[in-house]
This record gives sequence, C-alpha cells and structure tokens, in this order.
Amino acid sequence: MPEGPSIVLLKEETIQFTGRKVLAVSGNTQTIEKERLLNKKVLEFKSWGKHFLICFNGFTVRIHFLLFGSYTINTPKENRVPRLYLRFTNGEIFFYACSVRILEGDVNDYYDWSGDVLNDAWDPKKAKEKIKAIPKALICDTLLNQEIFAGVGNIIKNEVLYRVGVHPESKNGKIPGIKMNKIIYEARNYSFDFLNWKRQYVLRKNWLAHAKTVCQKCGGRIIKKHTGLNSRRSFFCTKDQKLYV
Ligand SMILES: [Zn+2]
Repeated sequence: MPEGPSIVLLKEETIQFTGRKVLAVSGNTQTIEKERLLNKKVLEFKSWGKHFLICFNGFTVRIHFLLFGSYTINTPKENRVPRLYLRFTNGEIFFYACSVRILEGDVNDYYDWSGDVLNDAWDPKKAKEKIKAIPKALICDTLLNQEIFAGVGNIIKNEVLYRVGVHPESKNGKIPGIKMNKIIYEARNYSFDFLNWKRQYVLRKNWLAHAKTVCQKCGGRIIKKHTGLNSRRSFFCTKDQKLYV
C-alpha cells in the first residue's frame, strides 16, 4: 500500500497537468460517472494522507490506493485495464486497482489538513490530544490510525518505533509523555526522510527495522510479529524497544 510520501510524489509528478483539460476519460470504475470529467480543467492536485485528490470546479475526484492500488504516467501497464484513465494535451495518467469517488463541493469541507503528517498545517498538539483520549490502544494501531496520523503506513510505523525505542505493543497511556512527543515528532520527521529517500530510489536501503532480521543497534534478532487490531506486520528489537504496559 502506498504510504503518504508516495502520494506526495504522485502529486509532484502530476503537477504538469494542473490547469489542463481532460481530453479523454475511460476505465472500469463503476462508482463515478466518469464522463463528467470530460473537458473539465484540473484546478489542483492535493493529497491527504493516502488519498490523492484531483480538484475540479465544484467537485473533487478522490483516489484511494487501498492495498494493491498503483498508477503510471504516460506508460500503461501491459494487459491491465485501468480503474480510471485521464488524457491531457501533454500526457496521461493510469490508475489501477484503486477506489474512486467524487466529493461534491469544497474539498476543504472533507479534510482536516492538520491531521496529515506531511502537510504544512500538521498539528502535533492535536495528535497528542487524540492519543490521550485512547489510553488503552496500542501504539502500533495508533500510528496507523488515519484519523490521528494520516499518511503513516506500516513501514513508517515500524521505523518510527525503532528510532524512538518503543515496542509496538505498548499501551498509549503507559508511554511516558516525553517518549510520546518523540513518536509524534518522528511520525512527521521520518515521513520526510521516507519521501527524500524514495525520490533518490534508496528507501529500502535505509530501512533499519522494517523487513530486517538483525538489529543494527545491538546485533540481536529483529522480531517479526503480527500485532494490533489489524494484525499488521511489526518488526522490532525487544532489547532496544521498551514495552510499556
Ligand atoms: Zn537491538
């Protein structure tokens, strides 16, 4: 699943289509009346967490990549029917296996931009308030909660917890305030590292815990375990990551 930084990269790649009219539209989406986009001008591309937003006058197309979604620009994937395809005078976008919806009216009415870790409006204090309200939740679930940390996905979760030395099955209410501040800080900070590394095609090389078997800090074993409500894969070192319960 693409995490927030990947959607920011998509936004950068599509900026060339800003202000351009949709000259052709197709795809197997059943959820929107795609012909509505024809001859309409894209005002802006935005992102909120893992949502990619194509803003038109009066409505917005929301693309959510879910687990297996992907996109290509100018080069279609072989033998794959796109969910949505848009052609402009200067290029084309193909979206695959994603959820497509239309948001009517002002896109700002749908999103709290201060909840997106990559947005300039990101507000760490708000995140802290939301976490305080769920003291019994596990930090591994909390970091993946898009209502608190929009854009954070499983890789970011694992790397943030390794950086700050907190075990993924720690309970929010038991984590010292200073540690929680570090987690909130790193959720944004690491997301920008992720973005920059991905831009340079060196993201995987920089993983310290995710998909690793040996701990870089102590040389011990990195544990792989499905944790939390959604049983997502966690990678962690029990020596370097403290369990607060
Ligand atoms: Zn270790």
